[in-house]
Amino acid sequence: MLIQRGGLKVVAGLGISGVAAVNFLHDKGYRVAVTDSRENPPGHDKIPSEVQQSFGKLDEELLLQAEEIIISPGLDPKLPEIQAAIKKGIPVVSEIQILRRATDKPIVAITGSNAKSTVTTLMGLMAKDAGVHAAVGGNLGRPALDLTKDDPEVYILELSSFQLETTSNLNAEVAVVLNMSEDHLDRHGDMLGYHTAKHRIFQGVKKVVYNRDDSLTRPLVPDTTPMQSFGLNAPDMNQYGILKDTDGTIWLARGRERLLKSSDMYIQGTHNVANALACLALGEAMGLALEKMLETLKTFKGLEHRCEFVREFNQVRYYNDSKGTNIGATLAAIDGLGAAIEAKGGKVAIILGGQGKGQDFTALRDSLAKYAKVAVLIGEDRSIIETAIQGTTELLHVETLKEAVELCQKHTQADDVVLLSPACASFDMFSGYVQRGHQFVAIVNELN
Ligand code: ADP
Repeated sequence: MLIQRGGLKVVAGLGISGVAAVNFLHDKGYRVAVTDSRENPPGHDKIPSEVQQSFGKLDEELLLQAEEIIISPGLDPKLPEIQAAIKKGIPVVSEIQILRRATDKPIVAITGSNAKSTVTTLMGLMAKDAGVHAAVGGNLGRPALDLTKDDPEVYILELSSFQLETTSNLNAEVAVVLNMSEDHLDRHGDMLGYHTAKHRIFQGVKKVVYNRDDSLTRPLVPDTTPMQSFGLNAPDMNQYGILKDTDGTIWLARGRERLLKSSDMYIQGTHNVANALACLALGEAMGLALEKMLETLKTFKGLEHRCEFVREFNQVRYYNDSKGTNIGATLAAIDGLGAAIEAKGGKVAIILGGQGKGQDFTALRDSLAKYAKVAVLIGEDRSIIETAIQGTTELLHVETLKEAVELCQKHTQADDVVLLSPACASFDMFSGYVQRGHQFVAIVNELN
């Protein structure tokens, strides 16, 4: 029997996380309604029919009847209908807030401009290999409120700035902002707004992990909060970092202790060394055994579309970094792969372009000048990119991804790398980064 509790919960915005929120609240016995501006929002057939539904516009009248509004990360709280509710004193919260209220199990909270999915997935594997029953999701994979069904020992959550914007006092067991670079400024206004949203992850946090190489990731928390750092330099006692041998071997290290050679991991590039170090620090805060975590690092193959190794053909290695949709990610890919082939005289042929989201592409100049032999430009904003990176490397224009790959093939020789890391969104030419990546992989596999 359902116990009807309290006032009305209104879920604003359906989609994957909205469906999970409606079903979760309904199962708990709350009165639930849902509104979405779309006539047929995705998931409308996955919620109980007795839930009041108002589709076609965001229903302000319904929102104003709410005791609490659960807002989907895709909706901007600045929308007038939501602002009207806020003015009336109605709390507007994320589904993460609902999860926090529903469980006293520890939460491992992960955000950042880039690397969230990689680190969250790897943390999930580390927990599993260490015998910990963890539920993994949030901004990637399963929505947070779906995870409660697993009754896990610990939640490992990837959180976006949009989810954090409406989350207070998360009280995470351990939290990290992996890195900060320009993204989503269209929604947050400026870097300060974006930074403020991300740092909400630290409200009430018990232990902190931060990135020594990026001062914007270090929070202001009480002195008594244990903090551990990671970075791509020699670590102080009890911190994570790297140590280099005279022959160039790079070791992941904790203090003076050498733990694992970077070449013993499948995942490539210095940015992935940083990601692995972040995971070791997070895992230590969770109490996972170091030996187990190192085993996981040796077997993790990385995620599709993130500097994913596709094929070696004529001694040229091809990488699919279609998820490189902002400058920070593309810089990591060029620098990471470029540095790895530099000693042998190898260079990078990169495919750049798509929708530029107003980013300042001059930030790519130094890395292109250092590591690239050619940049092939595609998509809507290629002339903006061309102007910004003029003079750094040879620049070529093409219409299709196929032509781009073929030109890269023509311009490369043994020990070079061909890299798709567009620094742009893909929607001008593709349904998303996944389709762009799959096309690239298919074209590369057909090269002969
Ligand atoms: P997110 O979930 O934050 O988008 P992903 O793990 O999906 O992160 O990776 C997104 C992009 O960022 C990919 O192009 C990936 O290669 C790149 N990337 C991964 N780790 C880092 C890092 N530490 N710094 C910068 N870019 C990174």
